[in-house]
Amino acid sequence: MRPLPKRMRAAYVRPMVEEILHETEASPGRRGWCPGAWRPMASADGLVARLRPSGGRLSGAQLLTMASAASHAGNGVIELTGRANLQLRGIEAAKLAALQAQLGLAGLLDSSAADEARRNILLPPLAGLDPTAALDLLPLLAELEHRLREADELAALPAKFALVLEDGGLFQPSRITADLRARPVAQLPGQLAVGVGAPDGGTRWLGSAPPTLLPGILLALMRRSLPYLETLPRARFSYLTTDNCRAIAQGLPLRPLGSTPMPEPPGGSAPPLGHWRLGELSLVGVAAPLGRLDPRMLEILAGCIGPNGQARLTPWRSFVLPDQSAPILRTLKDGGFIVDASSPLLAIAACPGKEGCRSGTTSTLKDALHLAARLPLEPGGGIRLHVAGCAKGCAHPAKSALTLVGRNGSYDLVQDGRADASPLAKGLSLGDAAHLLSSLTLRTDRP
Ligand code: SF4
Repeated sequence: MRPLPKRMRAAYVRPMVEEILHETEASPGRRGWCPGAWRPMASADGLVARLRPSGGRLSGAQLLTMASAASHAGNGVIELTGRANLQLRGIEAAKLAALQAQLGLAGLLDSSAADEARRNILLPPLAGLDPTAALDLLPLLAELEHRLREADELAALPAKFALVLEDGGLFQPSRITADLRARPVAQLPGQLAVGVGAPDGGTRWLGSAPPTLLPGILLALMRRSLPYLETLPRARFSYLTTDNCRAIAQGLPLRPLGSTPMPEPPGGSAPPLGHWRLGELSLVGVAAPLGRLDPRMLEILAGCIGPNGQARLTPWRSFVLPDQSAPILRTLKDGGFIVDASSPLLAIAACPGKEGCRSGTTSTLKDALHLAARLPLEPGGGIRLHVAGCAKGCAHPAKSALTLVGRNGSYDLVQDGRADASPLAKGLSLGDAAHLLSSLTLRTDRP
């Protein structure tokens, strides 16, 4: 990431802030808006700036920069996202330029809003480290990021475009929705299957290729999809028809997969927590309760790994700390992190609700903590309960077993669906919702 010169930044940032405030005031909850550090989003508690560290990797020194930025430019709330990104909330518009300068010096700011917007690549948190992986994805990531920076025409990709790369190792982001996905083929060593997101959240596989050909193939698929995406009601690859998929893959050096099975790898719904040893690699995993941290927690994390140590963000709103061992877990637990898989908070997702978003009418975070203390939620199976401030369902776009959807100060309840699905019950108070949820949760758990 190359920082922009100071003079250009001053000329560029002020009009941009005005544009952001105007645009997001007009439609605070509209779909398709994806905040960045260059183009933060206006929300009820100030601007929200999302940082996309390359490969989810952050040094201890960068964690300290973010802790300081969250305290001085924002309201001290730091969120981990389901795309292994990190966002600072409550940023004052007048402090945005200083924040961007600080991020630039720490190597956390792209050279432009367009560069930032195109870099939506999600990797397994142990990419390049996992001895069980079929390949090291980091060289492929570097090549893709380089080519994306050069590809100005791809500024037209949807704001929420996501490319997910898998390496066949542990903790694969296989259940994270992707527009384009690459996955090693067990039966074809040295080949990665390439696919387009399907309407049901799965993948429509187009064929396979060696990793060296992947950057060219993936960029061609992105470019060729643009005219089709323009005609769709929602610019998502999952809306492309089978014919569209065939057309964008036409003539690319993809080997047909035929009936080769492409099973979803196991372990795609939970992060590594606690201390793990994988061959020579010793690592520690910790999660943030409901994906939220304060600056002090980032400082504690940075103190544990040292300025040159590495923390990796995961799409399960947690960190993996390579080359660390069990003794730091006590410090991290005392600092407020979840350090083992038994916490019911791991089974709950919640957005900021009315305290952080103009579309919210309920206190989702407070209500989620209330429910976590009362419901027999079993951790370990991914998100079971989603407390959404509205039907947009930002905190967990996929289905969950139970979803409370805030509406006019009370909740509707959706069972086994997304936040925008038809509710089973409407207009519930928190107490009514807790009562109903506990019977539904228990019933779901019965054999
Ligand atoms: S789901 Fe939550 S964060 Fe998203 S728009 Fe609705 S209230 Fe806002």
